[in-house]
Amino acid sequence: MTATDFPAARNLVGGEWVDGGPLVLDVIDPATGDAVTRIPDTDTAGVDAAVAAARAALPAWRKTSEFERARLLHALANLVRDDIDPLAELITREMGKPIGEARGEVRKLADAFDYYAEEAVRVYGETIPNEQAGVTSIVRYEPIGVVGAITPWNYPLELIGWKLAAALAAGCTIVVKPSEYTPSSALCLFKLLAPAGFPPGVANLVLGAGTAGRALASHADLDKLAFTGSTATGAAITRSLAKAVPASMELGGSCPLIVTGSADIDEAVAGCLRRGFRNAGQICIAINRVYVHRSVHAEFVEKLTAAVAGLTLGPGTEDPDVGPVTNAEIRDRCAAHVEQAVADGARITTGGTPVERAGTWFAPTVVDDVPASTPLAQQETFGPVVGITPYDTTAEVVELANATEAGLAAYLYALDLEEVFTIGHALDFGNVAVNNPDAGIMNAPYGGRKGSGHGYEHGREGLHGYLQIKHLRIRYQR
Ligand code: ADP
Repeated sequence: MTATDFPAARNLVGGEWVDGGPLVLDVIDPATGDAVTRIPDTDTAGVDAAVAAARAALPAWRKTSEFERARLLHALANLVRDDIDPLAELITREMGKPIGEARGEVRKLADAFDYYAEEAVRVYGETIPNEQAGVTSIVRYEPIGVVGAITPWNYPLELIGWKLAAALAAGCTIVVKPSEYTPSSALCLFKLLAPAGFPPGVANLVLGAGTAGRALASHADLDKLAFTGSTATGAAITRSLAKAVPASMELGGSCPLIVTGSADIDEAVAGCLRRGFRNAGQICIAINRVYVHRSVHAEFVEKLTAAVAGLTLGPGTEDPDVGPVTNAEIRDRCAAHVEQAVADGARITTGGTPVERAGTWFAPTVVDDVPASTPLAQQETFGPVVGITPYDTTAEVVELANATEAGLAAYLYALDLEEVFTIGHALDFGNVAVNNPDAGIMNAPYGGRKGSGHGYEHGREGLHGYLQIKHLRIRYQR
């Protein structure tokens, strides 16, 4: 693969690259505003064919040994590592992130395949004592079956990879619909499946937007749906499921950062910079709202403002600190949240407006004295904007942090042990990172609660999401 090739926009169904319909959707480079490729919005018949292929491949695939599945996943990891640069370039061209971050994403994708290759052979059951003599109960884990996966554009490969790796490791077959904004890196990933040795039909790809997404989410022959995306689409998908299948939902989160009076302020500023502005703030676990104890508020605001004002902004291909935002919807929401916060009494300390150039851009922004009721402090902005609110007591800050529908990730900087444990335990979030900005790691479970969804990815729990329990009760003495 050469770095600038955009692959032909076709679906992968049962091992064959097939036409997904008329090419009706433009894919835009957000750094320039230019269309770089076009894709179909696969219709119901096209999605039916992909689900049928996954169903047909299931009986043989579920019987392969875990060791064979592990071997293929390791082979896929190695092929991905051989293609880091071209895969990263496609990510950057289609959604704008700095090329260094895109390379990091591809490396972590390969790591996810290795991780689940290793986990595949570590799925252990249990034997359970029975009251009755001569009877034993065995708990075994079996693949759930055919999985539908629908993914967004902010981590175009990793968010497919976590689902694909765990599903294949578990012995499931899968149909993936990537975001219509970022189809090409997914296409190139799926081209590696056959060379890695995966049988046809085990993993299938359908391109498209709402038509393809709705057809897949509501398909009657799925055994599980795995979704990452907006809260609104997650709710629509939940309503549209054809039957009572398990569904994992990784939805939005307006993530809080709490900086207490005992915090190392320089570390807190560095953490906020990383988790607020990386990927232009387009991360489900991005820091959106910051609560700073009044005793350190002025120092934190001054240092964060200086750090954010120093961030370089430019096309992802030039590897700046911050690239464009991926689409006009994000740019316009950033502007609306900032404008409303100012109207509600907040003040901008740096940035605050879209950047006038071709493509879609928003200046890295810090807003101070943000009232708790304004959308910037309530909703997910999903852009390079952070709002700060001073607070006085621990009880007050816990209430503020917990007072939205968000339950994915929260961050705390504090050196006082009592604060670490009191606040760490009281935060109503699935992931809480203390004195570090990385709430998700591959070998620990990652998932939301409240409006941020349910189900887990990463870790052993991520694999168990694709397994179902069988209680096998055997009477062996008569
Ligand atoms: P984001 O803006 O974070 O990408 P979306 O929820 O809009 O979040 O999109 C996430 C994924 O869901 C994309 O692949 C998109 O095409 C798909 N999608 C959008 N609408 C629907 C729908 N009604 N049913 C199923 N999938 C959908």
